[in-house]
Amino acid sequence: MSLSALCLRCGLCCDGNLFSHVALRSDEVASARRHGLDVEALVGGAPALRQCCTALSQRRCTLYAERPEGCRAYGCRLFKELAAGRVSLEDALAVVDRAHALLSALNEGLPPDTDARPSPVMERARFADLSEDGLSPETRALRERTEVLLDEHFHGGPRRFAHAPGEPE
Ligand code: SF4
Ligand code: SF4
Repeated sequence: MSLSALCLRCGLCCDGNLFSHVALRSDEVASARRHGLDVEALVGGAPALRQCCTALSQRRCTLYAERPEGCRAYGCRLFKELAAGRVSLEDALAVVDRAHALLSALNEGLPPDTDARPSPVMERARFADLSEDGLSPETRALRERTEVLLDEHFHGGPRRFAHAPGEPE
């Protein structure tokens, strides 16, 4: 129960702020497409699910019972810490809230998102940093603080990618 409470408040492993893609098995592709998920081929041809996932609705997976294996297998560091009883639910939720507050502040410092489909804040920050104008020192510092927090508490686990091969690091 507390694990689902954590994830329902979070959604970061599905909204594109942690990962650009989730690996799919080849036998999951047809079903993913049938459900309207955004399936892409990575460099090398392996199928993967583009994030932000179209099945995510207000931090809830609308395909939970039928989600791909890569989604089932994933648990972030914070999730594992809570599952092992090494952090309380209250403290874990506070970390999630801090991550969302940082992402929201970072979003304020970025150029407006003009894509029809909203792009993840961390992805936009990465590309804005590589652009000619770059990021202001304050926004770059915020981006770095956010990355540190995401690395410390959320990254890790199998079958997901921080970037599709060939995308900028
Ligand atoms: S990033 Fe971790 S806490 Fe957040 S939804 Fe994914 S598994 Fe749950
Ligand atoms: S199918 Fe569900 S669990 Fe998998 S990435 Fe999409 S929203 Fe997340």
